[in-house]
Amino acid sequence: MTSTPSSTVSDRSVLIPDALDRPGDDPIFALHGEAQRRQLAGEDVVNATIGALIEDEGPLAILPIVRDTLAAVDPVRAAAYAPIAGEPDFLRAVIADAFGAHPLGERAVAVATPGGTGAIHHAIANFLEPGQALLTSSYYWGPYETLATQGRRAVETFEMFDAQGGFNVAAFERALASQMARQGRVLILLNTPCHNPTGFSMHADERRAVAQLVREQSRRGPIALLIDNAYSHFGGSQSGDWVGDFAQIGDEAALLVAWTVSKSFAQYGARVGALVAAHSDPAERSRIYNALSFSCRGTWSNCNHQGMLAITELLTDPAKRARVERERARLIALLSERVRVFNQLAPRAGLSYPRYEGGFFVTVFTPDPRASAARMRELGVYVVPVHRALRVALCATAAAAVPRVVEALRAGLAAVRP
Ligand code: PLP
Repeated sequence: MTSTPSSTVSDRSVLIPDALDRPGDDPIFALHGEAQRRQLAGEDVVNATIGALIEDEGPLAILPIVRDTLAAVDPVRAAAYAPIAGEPDFLRAVIADAFGAHPLGERAVAVATPGGTGAIHHAIANFLEPGQALLTSSYYWGPYETLATQGRRAVETFEMFDAQGGFNVAAFERALASQMARQGRVLILLNTPCHNPTGFSMHADERRAVAQLVREQSRRGPIALLIDNAYSHFGGSQSGDWVGDFAQIGDEAALLVAWTVSKSFAQYGARVGALVAAHSDPAERSRIYNALSFSCRGTWSNCNHQGMLAITELLTDPAKRARVERERARLIALLSERVRVFNQLAPRAGLSYPRYEGGFFVTVFTPDPRASAARMRELGVYVVPVHRALRVALCATAAAAVPRVVEALRAGLAAVRP
């Protein structure tokens, strides 16, 4: 096509119109990059932006047993293609890990995905029609929107917190009923425990209330409830029997789990994960498995074989599994200390934030997140402005730096308070 002075970019671009104005740089990685540049230039900067657990002394925290097991995988097996849906032993081990001793494990199928991200991708592609919207809380992990948009779906939200700071069951109920009336089907995404970005973990009464509402609405149309438990091992004691609570959705709805080793095995780069789907009806389960396998073939074909083989061993060999648990306990303690210091200092500094019992992030509410974050950057502290709040990655903040972060948050808020 020849371009004329009056032709628009979309007339001339080789890209389709939808792809024309995509933001090329993830805002979190952009802030992270800026903080790193200042650090390299010799400035004393706290970088509380990125969602990976860092040792107090700086390097990425890893589990040595994961490193060793990955390195010991037979290179010839690792070099071969994995089965499209994933190694059967891996999938069995993942289902057992996700559901523990609960009978739901006998009513579940799974496929391998590159991390929880891949699992969420498959859920959106298979449980929502193009043009429909998934339902999640008003604070949510930004890639939900990217994944939905990329798949030509959308995101709708319900107000996450009630007046007491608990999970807003009433808002969820209204949104669920309204979506069911409009769409005739619903895909719910709940990230618990240790919700990103707020740090909030749902308690048993809140989980049961959600399950009960799903059970009621599933009589009107299909519902898939996806639990994004990327931070599963970092929840406080209240995260308890989440499987038993959500299993109360009944026989009509599907319970999905976006399972991933990124945080729970401190292994972000291997891209090992799975979408687990439980349903009471064997014929429906087999259709779900086929649909998910088809999506694997139609996207990434198959996943990282080396990672899958190593994680299978770590899940199934009792001695290695025990070592994972021991080594993970050290990481949980590392993070818990930062959470403890934050919870001690933040209320005294007048910060307002949701119930926070543990997790990689916490959000502090502010009327002007951009201005507050800008003031904090002047003080050498990097956090991520999100909707109506600042996301603080305590996972990336040494315990000794938490008081400085709290002080910078106080100054960031003071800068925007009338
Ligand atoms: N869900 C949430 C809320 C996350 O924060 C993340 C990672 O940051 C993921 C899912 C998925 O991560 P991955 O694809 O590495 O498993």
